[in-house]
Amino acid sequence: MILGSGAFPVGCRESGVDCHIHLLLLCAPFPPLSRMRFPKPTPRLIEKRRQRTARNGLIAAVRRAVVARDVRCRCCGERFATGEQTPEMHELRSRAQLRGRDPTDIWNRANCLLLCRRCHRGVTDHRITLTPADAEQGADGVVEVERRME
Ligand SMILES: [Zn+2]
Repeated sequence: MILGSGAFPVGCRESGVDCHIHLLLLCAPFPPLSRMRFPKPTPRLIEKRRQRTARNGLIAAVRRAVVARDVRCRCCGERFATGEQTPEMHELRSRAQLRGRDPTDIWNRANCLLLCRRCHRGVTDHRITLTPADAEQGADGVVEVERRME
């Protein structure tokens, strides 16, 4: 389409050939093509890193609270030291059991307690069973220790 000079709409800097296209774009209900950029979604890697950082912060905070509460092994009652007496944080309901749940369901005072390395090994090897007396209180309350005889 060839239009005479003066027939171009305001903002048209091209010759008359594409003018009707420019007119269409000027009237269109969407922004000009130069500004029509879709915001890039957050890359999965960045999102995963953010989640990991938040989770590590939560674990560190829960560990501080648990260390302040449990000054002795919750299983044998020994004071913590080095070697076999090294304190280790144990989750009553395991990460595997709570897989896919919110990190706060796994790492909280009621689910975490401190054990010495020896007792922790006994628990993970199923030689020792830890059962909270009150399910609601969990590790914040009394935890019953049951040792399997060998
Ligand atoms: Zn112990």
